Amino acid sequence: TIPVLELKDVTKTYAISQGMFRPKATLTAVGGVSLTVARGEVHALVGESGSGKSTLAKMLLGLTKPTSGEIRIDGVPIADTDRREVARRIQPVFQDPYSSLNPRKSVADLIALPLVAHKIGTPADRQKRVAEMLDAVGLPRRVIDAYPGQMSGGQRQRVAIARALVMKPDVLICDEPTSALDVSVQAQILNLLMELRREFRLTYFFISHNLAVVEHLADRVAVMYLGRIVEERSREALFERAGHPYSRALLDCVLTPDPSLGMPDAGITGAFPNPIAPPPGCTFHPRCPRAADRCRVTPPGPVPVADGFAACHFAA
Ligand code: SF4
Ligand code: MG
Repeated sequence: TIPVLELKDVTKTYAISQGMFRPKATLTAVGGVSLTVARGEVHALVGESGSGKSTLAKMLLGLTKPTSGEIRIDGVPIADTDRREVARRIQPVFQDPYSSLNPRKSVADLIALPLVAHKIGTPADRQKRVAEMLDAVGLPRRVIDAYPGQMSGGQRQRVAIARALVMKPDVLICDEPTSALDVSVQAQILNLLMELRREFRLTYFFISHNLAVVEHLADRVAVMYLGRIVEERSREALFERAGHPYSRALLDCVLTPDPSLGMPDAGITGAFPNPIAPPPGCTFHPRCPRAADRCRVTPPGPVPVADGFAACHFAA
């Protein structure tokens, strides 16, 4: 069967100005990412901020083009697919329901927006569809005339999810969908996403820096570091024994006793490197407890491990 999403050697670089008298530098935000996402799967993408997760999400949404490589939806390259068709089939749920919803629009208008933009249905059809979406995300129909400012963070994220679903998409790209919410609300939204997955037969591409969240809901997990996938496994295999030292360090942070230290890099020594001048060899070597001489010279390729791969010389 054809995967719903397929990335082949996807790279995104940016030219960065270094001032008037120096040549531009190249920042590789995403470097040579290959991934497949099967229909109905929750595929998580994990990494620190600055690792390229959001750039990858933007490319999947068709908001920015890869510099090289190819993204396919159901086997068809996004580059050959009508932009509106991409927008119908792949919808985003962003981190911050405060900034992603226009405060001057009512809930009804916010949810109907994609239908209006794509000229789908009559006004009566749209109103019916909005009501169905409110039911689906567990909001009472009386909020239909409310404005975002009158709602809680959790309610606003439900509105954002309703808007994403109104086009009957195949895939939701969730970029840290709960990290702006109170801890008490996060679980409710995650449970809702999992219910909707069954009800609407959705596939999720789920971006997070929080491995505890990922452990609850992912089928497969890709770990990203400095624009590259360093490990890609089934959730079970990854959480049982990570093959890459970076994944292992992230997993150890999940067990950090003080939640205020819960940022993924809390347990990893050394600073996140400058992405304009990445370290030679394995880009993780300055921070890696296992680094050996060859790591400083030779970049590791993907090494097969149980249920996936890890890009480390010593993964096997
Ligand atoms: Fe660490 Fe070397 Fe593996 Fe890179 S290749 S993760 S530096 S052991
Ligand atoms: Mg981000």
